[in-house]
Amino acid sequence: VLARIKDVCKRNGLLILSVLSVTIGCLLGFFLRTRRLSQQEISYFQFPGELLMRMLKMLILPLVVSSLMSGLAALDAKTSSRLGIITVTYYLWTTFVAVIVGIIMVSIIHPGGAAQKEITEEGGKPIMSSADALLDLIRNMFPANLVEATFKQYRTKTIPIIKNNKASSESTTRRIIVYGVQDENGSNVQNFELDITPPPEVIYKSEPGTSDGMNVLGIVIFSATMGIMLGRMGNSGVPLVSFCQCLNESVMKIVAVAVWYFPFGIVFLIAGKILEMDDPSAIGKKLGFYAITVVCGLVVHGLFILPMMYFFITKKNPIVFIRGILQALLIALATSSSSATLPITFKCLLENNHVDRRIARFVLPVGATINMDGTALYEAVAAIFIAQVNNYELDFGQIITISITATAASIGAAGIPQAGLVTMVIVLTSVGLPTDDITLIIAVDWALDRFRTMINVLGDALAAGIMAHICRKEFIKDGDEVPLICETK
Ligand code: ASP
Repeated sequence: VLARIKDVCKRNGLLILSVLSVTIGCLLGFFLRTRRLSQQEISYFQFPGELLMRMLKMLILPLVVSSLMSGLAALDAKTSSRLGIITVTYYLWTTFVAVIVGIIMVSIIHPGGAAQKEITEEGGKPIMSSADALLDLIRNMFPANLVEATFKQYRTKTIPIIKNNKASSESTTRRIIVYGVQDENGSNVQNFELDITPPPEVIYKSEPGTSDGMNVLGIVIFSATMGIMLGRMGNSGVPLVSFCQCLNESVMKIVAVAVWYFPFGIVFLIAGKILEMDDPSAIGKKLGFYAITVVCGLVVHGLFILPMMYFFITKKNPIVFIRGILQALLIALATSSSSATLPITFKCLLENNHVDRRIARFVLPVGATINMDGTALYEAVAAIFIAQVNNYELDFGQIITISITATAASIGAAGIPQAGLVTMVIVLTSVGLPTDDITLIIAVDWALDRFRTMINVLGDALAAGIMAHICRKEFIKDGDEVPLICETK
């Protein structure tokens, strides 16, 4: 029995530690609340958690660049162009649909409560109009300076200007009406002053500027283009491709080590957050609804939308197909890593669903790099949830910005545990939401990660089934090999 317990602990060590850390963090937080710590003491206490956040932010750049460049460079786009174009278009489409499902769910359930105010900078001026937000999003796709894009993004600033006209010069003179209240005998009892000075007329002017936070959209677009071009270069691109692959592997190793620090950091992050909150039980309730919203969104996308797409395109029974990849889905649930699940997904597709090997070998690795429907859905829900918790009302332009950055963030995320949490920073900074509030959702992330990874794997597998159906004539009849450099490991 002891040996079995040891084996289970060894295989699920990270999961057990994550659950323990959330529990200990909550208990510690509530206990320390009774001690009434000073602000200074709370900030010292939060230090290990702060380190965790710094690690998350540090990993964004190497993760996004290396995973996209090495993944896409491995595809020979010239020879497999038709399959490549159909696959990438399908992946982008399903990811975007997943984001929309997430946005609809979070808008219906409202896990963070009803929001009332606009996102504003200090002093209450609006950050930007939705037209500016949309234009900024497009500008950010084409960073003028790649180095700057690694730590700043383009952001139109709104600056207030007091209009220097008749109204404003009048407004500099204070106008006061003084009136008194008399008693029955007619003697003045009290005087009151009423200030009727017209407020100065303020207009807002948009100015180009930058804001802190990496321009991930620009980096994703650059890295993806660079990866595709490297793939097209053939032999002359090989040195850089090997460099990117080596970089990618080493970053994955760093992440694999860093995740062992996460449980320790999480204890202090959660406890620190509980110490800071006015009413932690209310946030706990909201967090529960947030988790339910993400799971409902994943269920709708994974059990209805994706299978329906499969059915409409192939006219085959999606339940039979999903039954064939059940083992891969369970491995995804257990490992929280779509990359680690890749060999099992491959095996299930070949042995149970009889998908053409050449197509599976092409579609699955691309999917593991850029197709993460579950992650995209979760990123959109989490960003809007954080806005709701902070009582911010998002306008249409900001929702569009969230949907596009959530798609980009999921493309940039690697198929490893909690990579989505790392790229979450991107979505929050794109609309000016506080990145520190990631600490709120960290408490439930270890669980949600497992479910979203299942949907990521399901999306890749169904895509392989669909591509096998669409391209069956071309690839099977003339026995053409789908050229492939990217092998599943
Ligand atoms: N764990 C997910 C995956 O491997 C990525 C994420 O964190 O969302 O697919």
